Amino acid sequence: MTCKTALLYHEDYLRYDFGAGHPLKPKRYKDTFELLKRLGVFDENVRHYTPNHATVEELRLGHTEEYIHMVQKKCKADSGYLDYGDTPARKGIYEASCAKVGGSILGAELIMNGEVEHAFNVGGGFHHAREGSAAGFCVFNDVVIAARYLQKKHGVKRIAIVDVDGHHGDGTQIAFYNEPILTISLHRYGGGVLGGFYPGTGTVDEIGEGKGKGYSVNVPLPMGTFDEAYQEAFREIVPPLIEKYQPEVLLNQFGVDTHYQDPLVGLSLTTKSYLEVSSALHRLAHEFSDGKYLIFGGGGYEPSNVSRCWALIFMTIAGVKPKNSEAYRRLLDPDLKMQNPQIHKQVQEVIKDVKRTIFPHHGL
Ligand SMILES: [Zn+2]
Ligand SMILES: [Zn+2]
Repeated sequence: MTCKTALLYHEDYLRYDFGAGHPLKPKRYKDTFELLKRLGVFDENVRHYTPNHATVEELRLGHTEEYIHMVQKKCKADSGYLDYGDTPARKGIYEASCAKVGGSILGAELIMNGEVEHAFNVGGGFHHAREGSAAGFCVFNDVVIAARYLQKKHGVKRIAIVDVDGHHGDGTQIAFYNEPILTISLHRYGGGVLGGFYPGTGTVDEIGEGKGKGYSVNVPLPMGTFDEAYQEAFREIVPPLIEKYQPEVLLNQFGVDTHYQDPLVGLSLTTKSYLEVSSALHRLAHEFSDGKYLIFGGGGYEPSNVSRCWALIFMTIAGVKPKNSEAYRRLLDPDLKMQNPQIHKQVQEVIKDVKRTIFPHHGL
Protein backbone atom coordinates (compact mmCIF):
# COMPACT_ATOMS: atom_id res chain seq x y z
CA MET A 1 0.00 0.00 0.00
CA THR A 2 1.22 3.49 -0.84
CA CYS A 3 1.49 5.97 2.04
CA LYS A 4 1.37 9.74 1.67
CA THR A 5 5.07 10.53 1.73
CA ALA A 6 7.16 13.66 1.19
CA LEU A 7 10.68 13.93 -0.14
CA LEU A 8 12.35 17.13 1.04
CA TYR A 9 14.94 18.49 -1.33
CA HIS A 10 16.18 22.00 -2.18
CA GLU A 11 18.74 22.89 -4.89
CA ASP A 12 20.59 24.86 -2.22
CA TYR A 13 21.55 21.57 -0.50
CA LEU A 14 24.22 21.41 -3.22
CA ARG A 15 25.93 24.44 -1.68
CA TYR A 16 26.86 22.29 1.33
CA ASP A 17 30.24 21.94 -0.30
CA PHE A 18 33.42 21.83 1.80
CA GLY A 19 35.69 21.61 -1.25
CA ALA A 20 37.01 18.98 -3.64
CA GLY A 21 39.10 17.00 -1.14
CA HIS A 22 36.35 16.70 1.50
CA PRO A 23 34.59 13.31 1.84
CA LEU A 24 31.07 14.77 2.11
CA LYS A 25 29.82 15.19 -1.47
CA PRO A 26 26.62 17.27 -1.71
CA LYS A 27 25.90 15.76 -5.13
CA ARG A 28 24.44 12.74 -3.31
CA TYR A 29 21.32 14.79 -2.45
CA LYS A 30 20.59 15.66 -6.05
CA ASP A 31 21.49 12.13 -7.18
CA THR A 32 18.91 10.67 -4.80
CA PHE A 33 16.20 13.02 -6.05
CA GLU A 34 17.07 12.38 -9.72
CA LEU A 35 17.18 8.61 -9.20
CA LEU A 36 13.73 8.64 -7.57
CA LYS A 37 12.40 10.67 -10.48
CA ARG A 38 13.89 8.23 -12.98
CA LEU A 39 12.33 5.35 -11.07
CA GLY A 40 8.97 7.09 -11.45
CA VAL A 41 7.98 7.02 -7.77
CA PHE A 42 6.35 10.46 -7.59
CA ASP A 43 2.58 10.81 -7.99
CA GLU A 44 -0.26 12.57 -6.10
CA ASN A 45 0.55 10.65 -2.86
CA VAL A 46 4.33 10.57 -3.08
CA ARG A 47 5.54 14.09 -3.61
CA HIS A 48 8.62 16.26 -3.66
CA TYR A 49 8.53 19.43 -1.56
CA THR A 50 10.98 22.34 -1.71
CA PRO A 51 11.49 23.74 1.81
CA ASN A 52 12.04 27.36 2.81
CA HIS A 53 15.34 28.29 4.43
CA ALA A 54 15.12 28.12 8.21
CA THR A 55 15.07 31.52 9.91
CA VAL A 56 17.47 32.53 12.70
CA GLU A 57 14.55 32.14 15.09
CA GLU A 58 14.13 28.54 13.95
CA LEU A 59 17.87 27.84 14.26
CA ARG A 60 17.58 29.16 17.83
CA LEU A 61 15.49 26.07 18.66
CA GLY A 62 18.80 24.16 18.73
CA HIS A 63 21.61 26.72 18.86
CA THR A 64 22.83 29.82 20.63
CA GLU A 65 22.59 33.18 18.90
CA GLU A 66 26.37 33.69 19.25
CA TYR A 67 27.09 30.44 17.44
CA ILE A 68 24.64 31.18 14.60
CA HIS A 69 26.26 34.58 14.04
CA MET A 70 29.73 33.05 14.18
CA VAL A 71 28.75 30.59 11.41
CA GLN A 72 27.30 33.43 9.30
CA LYS A 73 30.45 35.52 9.71
CA LYS A 74 33.00 32.77 9.16
CA CYS A 75 31.22 31.36 6.08
CA LYS A 76 31.03 34.82 4.57
CA ALA A 77 34.77 35.24 5.11
CA ASP A 78 35.28 31.84 3.43
CA SER A 79 38.22 30.73 5.56
CA GLY A 80 39.14 28.61 8.56
CA TYR A 81 37.04 25.99 10.29
CA LEU A 82 33.75 25.90 12.17
CA ASP A 83 35.24 23.32 14.57
CA TYR A 84 38.67 21.84 15.32
CA GLY A 85 39.37 20.95 11.68
CA ASP A 86 36.67 18.65 10.22
CA THR A 87 34.13 21.24 9.15
CA PRO A 88 35.54 24.04 6.98
CA ALA A 89 33.90 27.48 6.88
CA ARG A 90 33.05 28.03 3.21
CA LYS A 91 30.87 30.46 1.29
CA GLY A 92 27.39 29.00 0.90
CA ILE A 93 27.59 26.63 3.86
CA TYR A 94 25.41 28.87 6.02
CA GLU A 95 22.74 29.18 3.32
CA ALA A 96 22.86 25.46 2.53
CA SER A 97 22.55 24.66 6.24
CA CYS A 98 19.49 26.90 6.52
CA ALA A 99 17.89 25.12 3.53
CA LYS A 100 18.58 21.74 5.12
CA VAL A 101 17.21 22.70 8.52
CA GLY A 102 14.21 24.13 6.66
CA GLY A 103 13.72 20.70 5.09
CA SER A 104 13.58 18.95 8.45
CA ILE A 105 11.18 21.55 9.87
CA LEU A 106 8.91 21.29 6.82
CA GLY A 107 8.97 17.49 7.13
CA ALA A 108 7.87 17.76 10.76
CA GLU A 109 5.16 20.28 9.88
CA LEU A 110 3.72 18.23 6.97
CA ILE A 111 3.49 15.20 9.24
CA MET A 112 1.82 17.12 12.06
CA ASN A 113 -0.71 18.93 9.87
CA GLY A 114 -1.65 15.62 8.29
CA GLU A 115 -0.63 16.47 4.74
CA VAL A 116 1.63 13.39 4.71
CA GLU A 117 2.30 10.43 6.99
CA HIS A 118 6.01 10.11 6.31
CA ALA A 119 8.72 12.52 5.23
CA PHE A 120 12.36 12.06 4.27
CA ASN A 121 14.79 14.99 4.25
CA VAL A 122 17.79 13.73 2.26
CA GLY A 123 19.72 16.84 3.32
CA GLY A 124 19.15 16.33 7.05
CA GLY A 125 20.64 14.25 9.86
CA PHE A 126 23.48 16.49 11.09
CA HIS A 127 23.65 14.76 14.44
CA HIS A 128 27.12 15.82 15.67
CA ALA A 129 26.41 19.57 15.88
CA ARG A 130 26.02 21.03 19.42
CA GLU A 131 24.19 24.01 20.76
CA GLY A 132 27.28 26.20 20.47
CA SER A 133 29.60 24.43 18.05
CA ALA A 134 29.96 22.53 14.80
CA ALA A 135 31.42 19.01 14.77
CA GLY A 136 32.14 16.21 12.31
CA PHE A 137 30.87 17.92 9.08
CA CYS A 138 27.71 19.06 10.94
CA VAL A 139 26.88 22.76 11.27
CA PHE A 140 23.30 22.86 12.59
CA ASN A 141 21.66 19.87 14.25
CA ASP A 142 18.41 19.64 12.29
CA VAL A 143 17.39 16.48 14.18
CA VAL A 144 17.41 18.39 17.47
CA ILE A 145 15.74 21.40 15.85
CA ALA A 146 12.95 19.23 14.37
CA ALA A 147 12.34 17.60 17.76
CA ARG A 148 12.27 20.99 19.51
CA TYR A 149 9.89 22.23 16.82
CA LEU A 150 7.56 19.30 17.54
CA GLN A 151 7.71 20.05 21.28
CA LYS A 152 7.25 23.81 21.03
CA LYS A 153 4.89 24.24 18.05
CA HIS A 154 2.86 21.07 18.40
CA GLY A 155 3.12 20.21 22.09
CA VAL A 156 4.49 16.74 21.37
CA LYS A 157 5.69 15.06 24.58
CA ARG A 158 6.96 11.63 23.52
CA ILE A 159 9.50 11.66 20.70
CA ALA A 160 11.69 8.70 19.78
CA ILE A 161 14.87 9.33 17.78
CA VAL A 162 16.49 6.26 16.24
CA ASP A 163 19.95 7.03 14.83
CA VAL A 164 21.44 4.31 12.64
CA ASP A 165 24.36 6.32 11.21
CA GLY A 166 27.75 4.61 11.49
CA HIS A 167 28.83 7.28 14.01
CA HIS A 168 27.39 7.93 17.47
CA GLY A 169 24.62 10.58 17.44
CA ASP A 170 26.45 12.53 20.15
CA GLY A 171 25.05 16.01 19.49
CA THR A 172 21.50 14.70 19.61
CA GLN A 173 22.20 12.69 22.76
CA ILE A 174 23.65 15.72 24.58
CA ALA A 175 20.66 17.91 23.68
CA PHE A 176 18.17 15.50 25.30
CA TYR A 177 20.36 13.95 27.99
CA ASN A 178 18.19 15.26 30.83
CA GLU A 179 14.79 14.76 29.19
CA PRO A 180 12.58 11.69 28.71
CA ILE A 181 13.07 11.84 24.93
CA LEU A 182 14.03 8.36 23.76
CA THR A 183 17.29 8.52 21.77
CA ILE A 184 18.67 5.25 20.44
CA SER A 185 21.97 5.20 18.55
CA LEU A 186 23.50 2.14 16.88
CA HIS A 187 27.05 2.90 15.75
CA ARG A 188 30.58 1.68 15.41
CA TYR A 189 32.62 2.11 18.56
CA GLY A 190 36.26 1.63 19.48
CA GLY A 191 39.29 0.35 17.64
CA GLY A 192 42.24 2.38 16.44
CA VAL A 193 44.45 4.44 18.72
CA LEU A 194 43.53 6.55 21.76
CA GLY A 195 39.92 5.49 22.16
CA GLY A 196 39.62 5.10 18.43
CA PHE A 197 36.72 5.73 16.19
CA TYR A 198 35.03 9.17 15.91
CA PRO A 199 33.48 10.66 18.04
CA GLY A 200 34.65 8.27 20.77
CA THR A 201 31.41 8.41 22.78
CA GLY A 202 28.29 6.22 22.76
CA THR A 203 29.04 3.51 25.32
CA VAL A 204 26.25 1.46 26.90
CA ASP A 205 26.59 3.28 30.23
CA GLU A 206 25.74 6.71 28.78
CA ILE A 207 22.08 6.31 29.74
CA GLY A 208 20.91 9.88 30.43
CA GLU A 209 20.52 11.82 33.66
CA GLY A 210 17.72 13.08 35.90
CA LYS A 211 14.40 12.81 34.08
CA GLY A 212 16.35 11.51 31.09
CA LYS A 213 17.79 8.51 32.92
CA GLY A 214 17.26 5.38 30.86
CA TYR A 215 16.24 7.32 27.75
CA SER A 216 19.70 7.57 26.15
CA VAL A 217 20.30 4.19 24.58
CA ASN A 218 23.62 3.31 22.94
CA VAL A 219 24.46 0.20 20.97
CA PRO A 220 28.24 0.34 20.34
CA LEU A 221 29.18 -2.13 17.61
CA PRO A 222 32.59 -3.54 16.71
CA MET A 223 34.26 -2.85 13.38
CA GLY A 224 33.12 -5.38 10.79
CA THR A 225 29.59 -5.85 12.20
CA PHE A 226 27.68 -7.49 9.35
CA ASP A 227 24.01 -7.79 8.37
CA GLU A 228 22.93 -10.75 10.48
CA ALA A 229 24.56 -9.53 13.70
CA TYR A 230 23.39 -5.95 13.12
CA GLN A 231 19.81 -7.00 12.49
CA GLU A 232 19.84 -9.11 15.63
CA ALA A 233 20.96 -6.08 17.68
CA PHE A 234 18.33 -3.89 16.07
CA ARG A 235 15.49 -6.41 16.54
CA GLU A 236 16.36 -7.23 20.15
CA ILE A 237 16.64 -3.62 21.28
CA VAL A 238 14.72 -1.12 19.15
CA PRO A 239 11.17 -2.54 18.72
CA PRO A 240 10.69 -3.47 22.42
CA LEU A 241 11.73 0.03 23.54
CA ILE A 242 9.53 1.76 20.95
CA GLU A 243 6.56 -0.44 21.86
CA LYS A 244 6.99 0.43 25.52
CA TYR A 245 7.62 4.13 24.96
CA GLN A 246 4.84 4.64 22.40
CA PRO A 247 6.21 7.78 20.73
CA GLU A 248 3.78 10.29 19.26
CA VAL A 249 6.30 10.85 16.46
CA LEU A 250 9.17 8.66 15.32
CA LEU A 251 12.34 10.36 14.08
CA ASN A 252 15.06 8.40 12.32
CA GLN A 253 18.54 9.57 11.33
CA PHE A 254 19.40 7.21 8.48
CA GLY A 255 23.05 7.78 7.61
CA VAL A 256 24.23 5.00 5.33
CA ASP A 257 27.95 5.19 6.13
CA THR A 258 27.40 1.76 7.76
CA HIS A 259 27.59 0.35 4.21
CA TYR A 260 30.31 -2.22 3.57
CA GLN A 261 31.84 -0.09 0.82
CA ASP A 262 31.90 3.14 2.82
CA PRO A 263 35.46 4.49 2.99
CA LEU A 264 35.21 6.06 6.47
CA VAL A 265 33.38 3.77 8.89
CA GLY A 266 34.30 0.06 8.70
CA LEU A 267 30.93 -1.55 9.35
CA SER A 268 29.77 -4.16 6.82
CA LEU A 269 26.08 -3.64 6.09
CA THR A 270 24.25 -4.11 2.82
CA THR A 271 20.84 -2.97 1.60
CA LYS A 272 19.41 -6.04 3.35
CA SER A 273 19.83 -4.29 6.71
CA TYR A 274 18.46 -1.00 5.35
CA LEU A 275 15.33 -2.78 4.15
CA GLU A 276 14.89 -4.48 7.53
CA VAL A 277 15.44 -1.28 9.53
CA SER A 278 13.22 0.95 7.35
CA SER A 279 10.37 -1.56 7.16
CA ALA A 280 10.51 -2.26 10.92
CA LEU A 281 10.47 1.43 11.85
CA HIS A 282 7.77 2.10 9.26
CA ARG A 283 5.62 -0.63 10.80
CA LEU A 284 6.27 0.66 14.35
CA ALA A 285 5.36 4.21 13.29
CA HIS A 286 1.99 2.98 11.99
CA GLU A 287 1.43 0.84 15.05
CA PHE A 288 2.30 3.38 17.74
CA SER A 289 2.72 6.85 16.21
CA ASP A 290 -0.28 7.11 13.90
CA GLY A 291 2.14 6.77 10.98
CA LYS A 292 4.12 9.87 11.95
CA TYR A 293 7.61 8.98 10.72
CA LEU A 294 10.28 11.56 9.83
CA ILE A 295 13.55 10.38 8.29
CA PHE A 296 16.75 12.38 7.95
CA GLY A 297 19.77 11.52 5.81
CA GLY A 298 23.20 11.67 7.42
CA GLY A 299 26.57 10.11 6.66
CA GLY A 300 27.50 8.18 3.54
CA TYR A 301 30.76 8.76 1.71
CA GLU A 302 30.59 6.62 -1.39
CA PRO A 303 28.22 8.80 -3.43
CA SER A 304 26.78 6.21 -5.83
CA ASN A 305 25.87 3.90 -2.94
CA VAL A 306 24.33 6.70 -0.92
CA SER A 307 21.74 7.73 -3.52
CA ARG A 308 20.90 4.10 -4.25
CA CYS A 309 20.41 3.24 -0.56
CA TRP A 310 18.37 6.36 0.21
CA ALA A 311 16.16 5.80 -2.83
CA LEU A 312 15.52 2.27 -1.62
CA ILE A 313 14.70 3.43 1.91
CA PHE A 314 12.37 6.13 0.57
CA MET A 315 10.52 3.63 -1.61
CA THR A 316 10.19 1.23 1.31
CA ILE A 317 8.46 3.74 3.58
CA ALA A 318 6.35 5.19 0.75
CA GLY A 319 5.28 1.68 -0.28
CA VAL A 320 6.14 2.12 -3.96
CA LYS A 321 8.03 -0.12 -6.34
CA PRO A 322 8.95 0.92 -9.86
CA LYS A 323 7.13 -0.88 -12.64
CA ASN A 324 10.48 -1.91 -14.01
CA SER A 325 11.55 -4.67 -11.60
CA GLU A 326 15.05 -4.80 -13.07
CA ALA A 327 15.55 -1.15 -12.08
CA TYR A 328 14.53 -2.06 -8.53
CA ARG A 329 16.89 -5.03 -8.45
CA ARG A 330 19.76 -2.79 -9.42
CA LEU A 331 19.25 -0.85 -6.15
CA LEU A 332 20.06 -3.94 -4.09
CA ASP A 333 23.48 -5.13 -2.99
CA PRO A 334 24.50 -8.70 -3.68
CA ASP A 335 23.89 -11.10 -0.79
CA LEU A 336 27.34 -11.20 0.79
CA LYS A 337 26.38 -14.02 3.21
CA MET A 338 28.95 -12.58 5.58
CA GLN A 339 29.63 -14.44 8.81
CA ASN A 340 32.14 -13.95 11.59
CA PRO A 341 31.46 -15.88 14.80
CA GLN A 342 33.80 -13.69 16.85
CA ILE A 343 32.16 -10.43 15.82
CA HIS A 344 28.73 -12.00 16.20
CA LYS A 345 29.57 -12.99 19.77
CA GLN A 346 30.82 -9.50 20.59
CA VAL A 347 27.56 -8.02 19.27
CA GLN A 348 25.54 -10.46 21.38
CA GLU A 349 27.47 -9.31 24.46
CA VAL A 350 26.57 -5.70 23.63
CA ILE A 351 22.90 -6.68 23.28
CA LYS A 352 23.02 -8.30 26.72
CA ASP A 353 24.68 -5.21 28.23
CA VAL A 354 22.08 -2.86 26.78
CA LYS A 355 19.23 -5.04 28.03
CA ARG A 356 20.74 -5.23 31.50
CA THR A 357 21.44 -1.50 31.71
CA ILE A 358 18.45 0.05 29.93
CA PHE A 359 15.50 -2.33 29.92
CA PRO A 360 14.75 -2.19 33.69
CA HIS A 361 14.19 1.59 33.37
CA HIS A 362 11.29 0.75 31.05
CA GLY A 363 9.83 -2.15 32.96
CA LEU A 364 11.19 -4.63 30.43
ZN1 LIG B 1 3.27 4.04 5.79
ZN1 LIG C 1 28.33 9.04 10.13
